[in-house]
Amino acid sequence: MATTTKTKATHGSGAEGAWEVPPEQALRVPEGFDLAVFDRASTPGFTGDKAAGKALVAQHADELSELQERLFAEGRSGGSRSVLLVLQGMDTAGKGGIVRHVVGLVDPQGVAHRSFGVPTPEERRHDYLWRIRRALPEPGYIGVFDRSHYEDVLVARVDALVPPEVWEARYDEINRFEAEVAAAGTTIVKVALLVSYEEQRARLMERLERPDKFWKYNPNDVDSRQKWPAYQEAYQAVLDRTSTDVAPWHVVPADRKWFARLAVSELLLDALRGLDLGWPPADFDVAVEKARLAAT
Ligand code: AMP
Ligand code: MG
Repeated sequence: MATTTKTKATHGSGAEGAWEVPPEQALRVPEGFDLAVFDRASTPGFTGDKAAGKALVAQHADELSELQERLFAEGRSGGSRSVLLVLQGMDTAGKGGIVRHVVGLVDPQGVAHRSFGVPTPEERRHDYLWRIRRALPEPGYIGVFDRSHYEDVLVARVDALVPPEVWEARYDEINRFEAEVAAAGTTIVKVALLVSYEEQRARLMERLERPDKFWKYNPNDVDSRQKWPAYQEAYQAVLDRTSTDVAPWHVVPADRKWFARLAVSELLLDALRGLDLGWPPADFDVAVEKARLAAT
């Protein structure tokens, strides 16, 4: 069933046609993907410019928002489905901007956002998936993970927070875990935001030059940056070993913020469209209720 929604004035700008390859297809990590040669300033599948990209995000905002509302309505009516957007990326890759500019297009009441930092003492007393399970979206919600269980095969691997045999076993564990989550009704959209080494430097420098950005800076960011090759290797392993049919990875070049935001909004829209969401039928007699109301 096609979901026809009202579109606003931007409709007809032609921006939609600037996708030469559908985003889901253009961004899904391909077999044999090589992170080392991935152009992080590219715009895979999209031939439009920044203005066209922004126009398309605006053009699709109403549909995104309506589909989110349908999902929420379904969840309120006994449905079991939800969506989980997993955002991974190095510091400054733009995870926060995605939340603000893309997730921000839908009703915040239907969003379950969670960012994962260094595990708290309580979290450390449990298995690494404990805090993740607790944060999974309830039916009807769009869950958003700013970092995720993947940190447990990224920073945990790079900084040797656990022995190699421990992180080594996690790739398969994660695949099993995500298969379980998907089977329970959650559509998983995994996005690796890939910023270049040069662009990261510029963005970190900007954080040090602008008082309004100091709060985003953490001296640890430079420590992580110093381990760039080890992180790239760890990301490569994630993409090689945890992109599955039920939870594939998407690789999004992040040097152009407008493109990353467009890409994620299209991936989210694609996931929601794929759910073929209707509106829940009334669980009361509409005619009777109308008559009762009219009598008041
Ligand atoms: P930020 O997202 O910039 O607020 O930074 C959060 C920090 O927490 C990053 O340096 C992550 O690598 C770190 N972090 C997240 N999850 C874990 C984890 N499971 N183990 C260790 N560090 C983590
Ligand atoms: Mg940070």
